[in-house]
Amino acid sequence: MAAIHSSSLSSSFKQTKATQLGGFQPLDRVHLQSKALNFSRRRCNVKPLNAEPKRNDSIVPSAATLFSPHVVEVVEKVEVEDYEELAKDLENASPLEIMDKALAKFGDEIAIAFSGAEDVALIEYAHLTGRPYRVFSLDTGRLNPETYKFFDEVEKHYGIRIEYMFPDAVEVQALVRTKGLFSFYEDGHQECCRVRKVKPLRRALKGLRAWITGQRKDQSPGTRSEVPVVQVDPVFEGLEGGAGSLVKWNPVANMKGNDIWNFLRAMNVPVNSLHAKGYISIGCEPCTRPVLPGQHEREGRWWWEDAKAKECGLHKGNIKEENLNGNGSVHVNGTVPEADLFTNQSVVNLSRPGIENLLKLENRKESWLVVLYAPWCQFCQGMEGSYVELADKLVGSGVKVAKFRADGEEKPFAQQELQLGSFPTILFFPKHSSRPVKYTSEKRDVDSLMAFVNALQ
Ligand code: SF4
Repeated sequence: MAAIHSSSLSSSFKQTKATQLGGFQPLDRVHLQSKALNFSRRRCNVKPLNAEPKRNDSIVPSAATLFSPHVVEVVEKVEVEDYEELAKDLENASPLEIMDKALAKFGDEIAIAFSGAEDVALIEYAHLTGRPYRVFSLDTGRLNPETYKFFDEVEKHYGIRIEYMFPDAVEVQALVRTKGLFSFYEDGHQECCRVRKVKPLRRALKGLRAWITGQRKDQSPGTRSEVPVVQVDPVFEGLEGGAGSLVKWNPVANMKGNDIWNFLRAMNVPVNSLHAKGYISIGCEPCTRPVLPGQHEREGRWWWEDAKAKECGLHKGNIKEENLNGNGSVHVNGTVPEADLFTNQSVVNLSRPGIENLLKLENRKESWLVVLYAPWCQFCQGMEGSYVELADKLVGSGVKVAKFRADGEEKPFAQQELQLGSFPTILFFPKHSSRPVKYTSEKRDVDSLMAFVNALQ
């Protein structure tokens, strides 16, 4: 579903609405294709600062290759954008100018992430550009009633439909049945945030080439002080998959909280009624509280945890190296390590003797697919959803899917014996061979991984 503010597009929304339920795909494929005839395809192939080296570039046919019937040989024209340069160019641009640039550049393949707080300013800026725009929001199931009412008000005010993303019901069920409704007070918010926020966000972003956030430098002392106005997303993947496939725009990065509020008042923009009760930053009901005058706004979020690591995972790329401990795991309050990954029952958790046995066997009963991972690695986190989905699909197929945590003291062994270069490394142990085959592509979506398995089965 798409959120379109202009009345001229409201009919196209109605036409496509019925077929878009539950999905998060670009609004109008026909429209997109016709646009593709006129413009060379834009790909963001600038690596984020902490990206691993690209091991195997995939070839994506250009729009001209796809649609021209008479072309025998086509040289693909790829517009390469240097987002670090662009961020410098736009450093002094107004939020409206940045928003306009973002919407003009990405059209239907960009969407505003709306949390239900003062980031409604982003919607107002998008509205002011006069361009069509999309808005999505994560409904964690734990929001305040005021926030739901506010969503409704915003939809009516702008004549849009917000594209809500929901967590996976089975995962929420498993978490709550095992640990209760308030486990985040006991062992940190990461696990719950991952299920209720990060995974749905990841799903949403997989249908986009760019997203727009309301991050500001003044919001979090430890994690947001260097937010650029635009960057290659250092954590999440976009439509084409792989590191560098998603661009993140932060049009209000340089604004102060006061500037945002002046703007909202001047433009008569509706605001969440929680703000009048002392809330500044607004998230889930159990994890957000009002702050006192003089307190920093992020002190109202996860107040039982360390002030410098208050990211729910949506903007984890902001967490810098000094916030990581020796083996790279984020310690939220000095004691709680990063939650484990791939915790699905279809994924076998291999110990060191387990993987050593796999290496020794020359004739296995089944083939094995094994990911060498580290829970703190953003790229491992990024592929968690697809790897677990793949594991579920391969149940009973003759291919076992497993994981081996290869950081810390296991790292030298993994580097020497398991071809570990960087995280994640994916290995296929064929049935009749002792030597594992390394997956060299950076495409870690289910179809790409399945093609790799099928090619070696
Ligand atoms: Fe869970 Fe709190 Fe995170 Fe919401 S903010 S997803 S309730 S831990």
